[in-house]
Amino acid sequence: MNRLAKCLANYAPLTPLTFIKRASKVYPNRTSIIYDKVQFNWSQTYERCCRLADSLRSLNVAKNDVVSVLAPNVPALYEMHFAVPMAGAVLNALNTRQDAKHIATILRHSEAKVLFVDYEYVPLASEGLRLLIADKPQVVVIDDISKPTGVRFGKLEYEQMVREGNPEYKGEEVEDEWDAIALNYTSGTTSDPKGVVYSHRGAFLSTISLIQGWEMPTEAVYLWSLPMFHCNGWTFAWGVAARGGTNVCIRNTNAYEMYTSISNHKVTHMCCAPVVFNILLEAKPHERRELASKVNILTGGAPPPAALLERMEDIGFDITHAYGLTEASGPALICEWQTKWNELARDQQARLKARQGVSVLSLADVDVKDKKTMEGVPHDGKAMGEIVLRGSSIMKGYLKDDKETANAFQNGWFFTGDVGVIHPDGYIEIKDRSKDVIISGGENISSVELESVLFKHQAILEAAVVAMPHPRWGESPCAFIVLRDSSDTTEAEILEYCEKNMPKFMVPKKVVFVKELPKTGTGKFQKQVLRKMAKSFQDTPFISNLQCFG
Ligand code: ADP
Repeated sequence: MNRLAKCLANYAPLTPLTFIKRASKVYPNRTSIIYDKVQFNWSQTYERCCRLADSLRSLNVAKNDVVSVLAPNVPALYEMHFAVPMAGAVLNALNTRQDAKHIATILRHSEAKVLFVDYEYVPLASEGLRLLIADKPQVVVIDDISKPTGVRFGKLEYEQMVREGNPEYKGEEVEDEWDAIALNYTSGTTSDPKGVVYSHRGAFLSTISLIQGWEMPTEAVYLWSLPMFHCNGWTFAWGVAARGGTNVCIRNTNAYEMYTSISNHKVTHMCCAPVVFNILLEAKPHERRELASKVNILTGGAPPPAALLERMEDIGFDITHAYGLTEASGPALICEWQTKWNELARDQQARLKARQGVSVLSLADVDVKDKKTMEGVPHDGKAMGEIVLRGSSIMKGYLKDDKETANAFQNGWFFTGDVGVIHPDGYIEIKDRSKDVIISGGENISSVELESVLFKHQAILEAAVVAMPHPRWGESPCAFIVLRDSSDTTEAEILEYCEKNMPKFMVPKKVVFVKELPKTGTGKFQKQVLRKMAKSFQDTPFISNLQCFG
């Protein structure tokens, strides 16, 4: 049997590029993209991608060249997910919330050959380019496709490149599915950003397994509330084409744009980090719309407290919880819902849903290991270890960083840097990032667990807990809290609530009220900023009412 050979008929490299070609044949007239007043169907989207890929080739973009893009969730960024790899190049979607220095660092590190810039981000990009001492990439401006502004940046313009490209160009052959398709920099919450490289194969398999894991149907109407720059929209940039769905693109993730799109276009699916829940929940009456039918949300990127999940479901969203990271092409675990859980009380359901879950199909295995012994921890929901993953959705490695790549891959596993437990039913629950665990008098305190108790308090809008140096216990928890507008709750009341709802050693030794919590571009609390603040409280222990973070 082993002598039967692979040939073109039975062995094709796996690549998401097949999704768009197929979409153009199978769903040519179905709406592919809606953005403000602009709409395309799959036949048009495919043709636009072919044209753009051809134009990229005429800019001398060749195999493995990096093409960077700085843009919000507009159609151009969607199309580039196909057009750039069709030209044989590697797509590098930049986080739009980064500063010019970060952008310069990434352009230098990736040696980007071309940089596409949305008109709104021209000032940021030009500052980034000014700081870039290395060779500068060619620049292409993306004007607003619905309401052109006339803003220019260099000679090249996106729509012109689409118009001038050859529609018959079908793209470079993917010869090896291990070739790179995308380069995504981590947001650098815990260290300098690292360039995570995805293969065509990994992207294909991750996409398929997420469509399956979320049970996303064909004809889904997908709202782009998650930045496409975040792990290629957790692979849904490719996934919506695979389903022949409709991409509803929006420039800003604010309550008005989200609710209006949901209502006008009958959105069925959307992804977002838990921070977006507060935007939807706190919407003013004039921003809000009734949901005509259930909207499915896939959430992840940060721990969603059970209380917040419950509040979202109360207003008509159907939430699926996933856990992942850039290195795993986005979601790696999904909290697969079990029918028998429907019988449970609402708060119990929310608690089960707040767990990170079981592996997606494209992973070969997942475990929680004691890093010293490499033994898996017992499935008792208590023993903590590091979450490790292996399988086809894991990155190829970090660009130009053999040391970090070797560090991440050990004994055949990818080490996530996240601390978790496995429950008796096999579901994994994250307890913290290893760097965020608070070690107080020898006890490990999970900041995630503490935050989820705080979130249940009606007056609390957001809470982030970090370690604060303590003369006796080494470290102790310090809680930064954003209160709801209407609340005048005091520190003493919060502490009293904590004493009633958690073991004594977990109770924060300090509560700091702030107007806003510092967050990364992907919606995570910047705990390193908070830790620095907490450290300074040792000298000035009486600060308890800060205004906000810049
Ligand atoms: P960065 O590491 O640069 O912040 P990532 O998006 O790769 O960017 O972040 C991945 C991290 O986000 C994970 O390692 C984990 O700590 C956290 N995370 C992601 N999803 C969840 C989730 N559902 N629950 C808790 N933490 C999560």
